[in-house]
Amino acid sequence: MDHFLYRSGTLHAEDVPIPEIAAVVGTPFYVYSTATLERHYRLFTEALDPLPHLVCFAVKSNSNVAVLKVLGDLGAGMDVVSGGEYLRAKAAGVPGDRIVFSGVGKTREEMRLALEGGIRQFNVESEPELLALSEVAAGMGLRAPIALRVNPDVDARTHEKIATGKSENKFGIPIARAREVYALAAGLPGIEVCAVDVHIGSQLTDLEPFEQAYLKVADLTRALRADGHTIRRLDLGGGLGIPYTRSNEAPPLPAEYGALIKRTVGDLGCEIEIEPGRLISGNAGLLVSGVIYVKAGEGRDFLIVDAAMNDLVRPSMYGAHHDIVPVVEPAAGALAQPFDVVGPVCETGDTFAKARHLPALAAGDLVAFRSAGAYGAVMASEYNTRPLVPEVLVRGDHFAVIRARPTFDEILNRDTIPEWL
Ligand SMILES: *Cc1c(COP(=O)(O)O)cnc(C)c1O
Repeated sequence: MDHFLYRSGTLHAEDVPIPEIAAVVGTPFYVYSTATLERHYRLFTEALDPLPHLVCFAVKSNSNVAVLKVLGDLGAGMDVVSGGEYLRAKAAGVPGDRIVFSGVGKTREEMRLALEGGIRQFNVESEPELLALSEVAAGMGLRAPIALRVNPDVDARTHEKIATGKSENKFGIPIARAREVYALAAGLPGIEVCAVDVHIGSQLTDLEPFEQAYLKVADLTRALRADGHTIRRLDLGGGLGIPYTRSNEAPPLPAEYGALIKRTVGDLGCEIEIEPGRLISGNAGLLVSGVIYVKAGEGRDFLIVDAAMNDLVRPSMYGAHHDIVPVVEPAAGALAQPFDVVGPVCETGDTFAKARHLPALAAGDLVAFRSAGAYGAVMASEYNTRPLVPEVLVRGDHFAVIRARPTFDEILNRDTIPEWL
């Protein structure tokens, strides 16, 4: 459910008509709904009640500091994967003890940054990383709280580019070797073992792979305790999928996911952490774009819009589907026709949809890409020197630009010509 609905024939973000934002900001732009972000966060905390828990929003899905503040103010933790994301979470007012640090390639500088600013736990993904972290922390007179991210070797049955829990993926420590690496960790001067972590992939539309992974984590936790480790927390990762089309079979609900967590690991007395990204931010955002031209082609017409693959890369990168809707609601019974929806970038891959049925549209009309709040703006680039797409946040009847479109001067001034040239 989201808060982007037609009212009197015009698409709104909460109580704000989309054309009103377009008139102020220009197109293309992302717009996020505060109410939808809050609703999705609450679904997760309610699903985990009464287990002690912390819902750590996966910052990589949408890292705008204003978005992070919406969630942080509700008590959310943050899952970060870089020093930059750590600084964003801090800038949003999230205390270090609610930030977990994931990722296979944390540098010593990033470790130092997080230890200085405060951190809930590092999710460590390899032995070399563990040794480096111990050295850095011990050098600062600290012990770094850690979970080891284990790779449970389960098939998440999702797109291969976002599956992370198979043995051939780069992520985590093979679960069969976990006890050995925990023993190593426990003996290191700069490490404090406190948790087990798993994350098997993204956009999962089936609970079965989660169940397999969490049962393995439960067994491992019992074994680690028998080995003498203190395991206070379980970080169960993110990955619950969202419906990208209205017609799609519905992915599992947070409540069903919560029930699964209680069933598989609820008896261990651990505090539960989860790291949802897409399910909180995905359907909380639209990408709004203007039609530049309608171009007649052979056997098809092209809808050339002013958003492109550099603004929303998911269709060209993952073959992902986004529903595209006109901002002005078509009249009941209006005929739809197939369009290839494309952007202005000079690549054939700059195609959002093929033969998509849309009502008659003309230059200057607005369209909205749904479910664009996750892995949208964060993956945007300035390819073709297209200014980085701006972001807007709506709450009730007001809106604010939360990242402005850069001017061409700003873009050009980032390049420098060496003196000797
Ligand atoms: C990407 C990622 C997430 C979030 O995944 P979603 O599918 O957006 O919920 C959580 N944890 C880790 C470690 C990740 O890499």
